Amino acid sequence: MSRSRATGTSVLVATLLVAPLADLPSTPGTDPPPVATRAPAPTPAPAPTPAPTPADPSTPTAVVGWDPVRQGVVGETLVDKVVVVPAEGRVVHLQQQVDGAWVTRDTTTVDDDPVDLAEITLPEHWAAERTTVWRLHLPATATAASATSREQRVDARWPLRSDPADPTVLVNKSHPVEPARWRPDDLVVPRSAAARERVGLRPEAAAALDELAAAARKATGKRLVMVSGHRSAAYQGRLFDRYAEQHGRAAAERFSARPGESEHQTGWAADVTQAGTGFTGFGGTASSDWVAANAWRHGWVVRYTPGAEDVTGYRPEPWHLRYVGRDLAAWLHRTGLTLEEAVGATG
Ligand SMILES: [Zn+2]
Repeated sequence: MSRSRATGTSVLVATLLVAPLADLPSTPGTDPPPVATRAPAPTPAPAPTPAPTPADPSTPTAVVGWDPVRQGVVGETLVDKVVVVPAEGRVVHLQQQVDGAWVTRDTTTVDDDPVDLAEITLPEHWAAERTTVWRLHLPATATAASATSREQRVDARWPLRSDPADPTVLVNKSHPVEPARWRPDDLVVPRSAAARERVGLRPEAAAALDELAAAARKATGKRLVMVSGHRSAAYQGRLFDRYAEQHGRAAAERFSARPGESEHQTGWAADVTQAGTGFTGFGGTASSDWVAANAWRHGWVVRYTPGAEDVTGYRPEPWHLRYVGRDLAAWLHRTGLTLEEAVGATG
């Protein structure tokens, strides 16, 4: 946490310097009210006079500019500017609510100005969960009372990526691959691929799938096999047409992507099964249970899960895995969110 004078807010600061406390924006909250209320002045504030320097420790403290709800994007720094009155030499604790208790994550000291801006940068903890709750706590000084800001809820989401070369890219029915015929040029066939599956995955995903298969084998004794990796837009088109012919178009759309709308086109998706089992019979096998619980450790997630059809647009597919990288996979595992929800998009 650091503090600075932000040039864009000098007018606000100047206003606050001459305003009586009662004219500050109120900051209601569930915690102890940060702004002790004084009877509103019935007439406009008098001409500026030097702020009184009371020896009264009950001088109320105001914290202004701490929004109750903020949205943050994982990977981006989240900075807040607050005005603290009176500010001279104040210590400001940034606290996070953890299991019902307040944990101090950072502490800063405001300069010796009567009114000052504190620039608060949230530490990494804000991005660890979908929602975190924060507050500011200012201990009392010789002249001013202690204060606690209202609570601030920070909602974290992951950036919505459209570059198909990015492992966190969102591809679904409303976010097709752009450009439509895009095709990775560095596909690698993982060791865990079935003998007839010679197309492959992006190198990072192929290595992670082999790691996943090795760990699965160690844990279950069963071999995990990739039966489908990259598919071109043209191939996906033929596949969808065949399903639509067999099951009708509406039914086909619930389990098959139209060309350009399949994650398989990116090289970041793999259909897997337990050796000796057709992939539609994968659900309920020892390998499937293990993969559902542990794939995230290797950067993979089961993309279409039970109860999420309204969000993803697909019926559950325990065999369809998606590589998103370890950080996002761990976050999705911890929050229980789909990729759509994590990036704030629709299916
Ligand atoms: Zn698939």
